[in-house]
Amino acid sequence: MNQHVLVLNCGSSSIKFAIIDAETGAAPLQGIAENLGAHNAQLRYSFDGKKTAIELSDNTNHKEALASIGRVLKQHDALQSSIIAVGHRVVHGGERFEQSCLIDPLVKEGIRDLAKMAPLHNLAHVAGIESAQDAFPDLPQVAVFDTAYFQTLPKHAYLYALPYALYEQHGIRKYGFHGSSHHFVSHEAARLLNKGIGQCNLITAHLGNGCSITAIKQGKAIDTSMGFTPLEGLVMGTRCGDIDPSVATFLIESLDYSAAQVSALMNKQSGLQGISQLSNDCRTLEEQQALGNENAKLALDMFVHRLVKYIGSYIALVGPLDALVFTGGIGENSSYIRQQTIAQLAHMGFSLDETLNAETRFGRSGRISDATSKSVFAIATNEEWVIAKDTIHCAFKA
Ligand code: AMP
Repeated sequence: MNQHVLVLNCGSSSIKFAIIDAETGAAPLQGIAENLGAHNAQLRYSFDGKKTAIELSDNTNHKEALASIGRVLKQHDALQSSIIAVGHRVVHGGERFEQSCLIDPLVKEGIRDLAKMAPLHNLAHVAGIESAQDAFPDLPQVAVFDTAYFQTLPKHAYLYALPYALYEQHGIRKYGFHGSSHHFVSHEAARLLNKGIGQCNLITAHLGNGCSITAIKQGKAIDTSMGFTPLEGLVMGTRCGDIDPSVATFLIESLDYSAAQVSALMNKQSGLQGISQLSNDCRTLEEQQALGNENAKLALDMFVHRLVKYIGSYIALVGPLDALVFTGGIGENSSYIRQQTIAQLAHMGFSLDETLNAETRFGRSGRISDATSKSVFAIATNEEWVIAKDTIHCAFKA
């Protein structure tokens, strides 16, 4: 059996896990422990396509959930003994973590320190790391940072035009997120183009519940839409993306919002959800707008408008474009969003092949543009595989 990596993505109330074949990227076993700390905690997983759900006791914490995941692994002896390392997705690596690294007490402390920039995520990661060290004491544990892919951004791209001291003293700058996904699909695009990644100018759009878009010049990220936090940039499921910062001060000074209320408004009640007043789910909005719902149509139109603006500006940055890539739940599956976006870019030399656009969904990857167009790909992302490969590299080859 090939060697496998246990990839963990620990959130504040959930742990996503996958056993990844480091050679092929396949995931024979994957699942999620969710509602941790609540009364309806549950562990769901699928093994070779067969789904199982286990109720966990009330208020199950990360440590108990990882012990339960460990017990599931024990039932699959051969698979368990093929696991050689644990890879943790860590959202914020700040400027300190330029690349993935083996976790030692200093690294753990560094991740905890960065919690001031991503409190929900990084503290949950530390809890997950400590629990995984207890549950799998014999396996090397590696941290793979969402932000590391964007270390190549030049300073003039990652700085905000604020007083420089805020950057120097408090690290206020653009960091970028979804790095493993942009990394994966850019390399897949280079493969489809039959070119070395270093020869490729690409724009990769990760469109899911969170959305980000990255400009890649000669294989290196030079700009990206998410910023100091994952709030900046595109319209997302429940996040507003780009906005005049004065809206925040107006809400506080004139409408008596607290800082926490502004944050909740912009992160959890805005985006597709906020505009449509219906749903953050692109599928629901597509169905509703087809039935004539104006709010659903407006939300989708705003989503596409912002996306088109970013694509245009990133074409200006990367120079002659080799390919535009769609990924993430919406990018991989929504023929509608892809069609609406590309229709607005016709004057820049883009056009879709209708059949390819309709058929390249649900895990299929490939070209969706027609023969006259600049290349457009839809690529099923595999962030876990990037994490697994980095984990093996750090644990055994670095
Ligand atoms: P993610 O966060 O990457 O899992 O993506 C979630 C988003 O993908 C949600 O807005 C879903 O509605 C959207 N999505 C998933 N499947 C489809 C589909 N077949 N058509 C349109 N949107 C989809």
